Amino acid sequence: MLKTHGCGDLRAAHAGEKVTLAGWVHRRRDHGGLTFIDLRDRSGLAQVVFNPATSSVAHAVGHTLRGEWVVQVTGEVARRPQGTENAKMPTGEVEIIAGSATVLNESKTPPFYVNEDAPVDEAVRLQYRYIDLRKERMQRNMILRHRAVKFMRDFLDARGFLEIETPILIKSTPEGARDFLVPSRLQPGSFYALPQSPQQLKQLLMVAGYERYFQMARCFRDEDLRADRQPEFTQMDLEMSFVEMADVMGLVEEMHTELVRKIVPEKRLLATPFPRLDYKDAMSRYGSDKPDLRFGMEITDITGLARTTQFQVFKAAAQSGVVKGIVAPGCAGYSRKQTDELLEFVRGKGAKGLVTIALEKIAGSLEALTQEQVRSSAGRHVTIDEIKAMAGRMGATPGDLLLLVAGPEAETNAALGSLRQMMGERLKLADPSVLAFGWVVNFPLLEWRPEENRWDSPHNPFCAPIDQDTPLLDMDPGRAMAKQYDLICNGYEAGGGSIRNHKRAAQEKILALMGHDAAAREEQFGQLLGALEYGAPPHGGIATGIDRLVMLLTGEENIRQTIAFPKTQNGADLLFGAPAPVSEKQLQELSITVKEQQRSGERPAGA
Ligand code: ASP
Repeated sequence: MLKTHGCGDLRAAHAGEKVTLAGWVHRRRDHGGLTFIDLRDRSGLAQVVFNPATSSVAHAVGHTLRGEWVVQVTGEVARRPQGTENAKMPTGEVEIIAGSATVLNESKTPPFYVNEDAPVDEAVRLQYRYIDLRKERMQRNMILRHRAVKFMRDFLDARGFLEIETPILIKSTPEGARDFLVPSRLQPGSFYALPQSPQQLKQLLMVAGYERYFQMARCFRDEDLRADRQPEFTQMDLEMSFVEMADVMGLVEEMHTELVRKIVPEKRLLATPFPRLDYKDAMSRYGSDKPDLRFGMEITDITGLARTTQFQVFKAAAQSGVVKGIVAPGCAGYSRKQTDELLEFVRGKGAKGLVTIALEKIAGSLEALTQEQVRSSAGRHVTIDEIKAMAGRMGATPGDLLLLVAGPEAETNAALGSLRQMMGERLKLADPSVLAFGWVVNFPLLEWRPEENRWDSPHNPFCAPIDQDTPLLDMDPGRAMAKQYDLICNGYEAGGGSIRNHKRAAQEKILALMGHDAAAREEQFGQLLGALEYGAPPHGGIATGIDRLVMLLTGEENIRQTIAFPKTQNGADLLFGAPAPVSEKQLQELSITVKEQQRSGERPAGA
């Protein structure tokens, strides 16, 4: 080794020892004939002093050093002179008096400084990711990610799970997203698809008798990207045989509870056991199937009260839809401009309008409010008594702002759900040190797609209906509930899984309802359907998103902060410059012709 210690490992107890360190020049300062550098490696920082009285040669080298140069320094560890200790650095009690120094490599001036926290354009960060990853924050994220994944591996290993790799070059695994395709050279005109998840493969492993499988699985989905999505991402994917919902959920809950306690002890779990919400309840109380449970601000139904007002909007909605709302605590003072912004926000989320009712802050209770102390965008069409009744039902007090939406139930829930999340963040109701895990269950098995005239599965087509709902598949498929469970955390879907159909007939029935005729079923799902006829055991599983979990554990707001080499919002890899055109020869080998206007990475007009 070119070093005896890590820079960050030195302590007062090392004083008097001769050590060799190697790392990067984090910072250099010249001071009255002495040169100081902070030397950085993965373990941390150490202060090195170049003193001409100790070694004039080393001092001369020290003088040439620049930021991000790679150097090796040998010298004695000394206690820093009294008064110069740095309590903020773990190594702040000591320094290394350089006896010799060798430049192992120079560095060009980096496009941004590792030792500064100034914001850097993300495109530049991604282009120079190898420098960006040197930053303490990225390093902390990578280390935490490693530890979380290792924890999961050990946890599952101790419970008899086997990690088994499944192929990346595979056939299309329809799970609701678009596939990435890879052309075959040996079979011109044919393509592999990259797996959207190892779903069918892990089920085949259950048929094969492995009983407990897991994999840190790379999944590929060609979707439009968002802050919490990447075209390739990693899932902790597992499958178990001879289990029911409670078994998989119990195991995953224990894993996450222990993981948080061990890996991020500074974070608090909101509740254990994790609360369970019915899908319908989640939609009606939070307007989301992945609500942030760190704060309340629940959506209240006031349709009954709205029906009897003289306000036309409410009366009309109450006929065929709902009137619902949330309470923004302490926001009665919002200006017209602020409430207009909220109106624009809910319009963007599909609501027709927003009624705002401000209850002035007074010394007394709700009952004491007068007409003059209430500011309502519904004018005088809603009387003070009606407002008091609504506010009372919603749990509001003077000083609060009521935000009401009227319309069809699904749209109203969705708009209020987004408004709730936005207001929760704005009012800082969601404690960043809390992890609010929960389960959402009782999803419908199938949803009707009127434009396609068929049923579709909200999750994936392999999920089984709950036992007593099986007969509904023949009578009223939309009412059948699924053996599906979603793990949620802080407003994100952290994972999802289900108990599967382990008999061919049951699986075929669902695929048929989804509009796959016999030929399509065989063509797309033949490998799984066939296997279900050879002694497939009852089985179920789950997959959780590793990138997203690490985002939540680290408090980052973007999964790109948790992935060493992520893609941009446009799916581009700025470091390698991918995707990129390939040579004519490569295309010929694959029997592929690219349309002229789309050559050389140009986008076709209008795209
Ligand atoms: N394959 C599913 C997914 O990727 C997870 C599961 O049902 O196990 O969402």
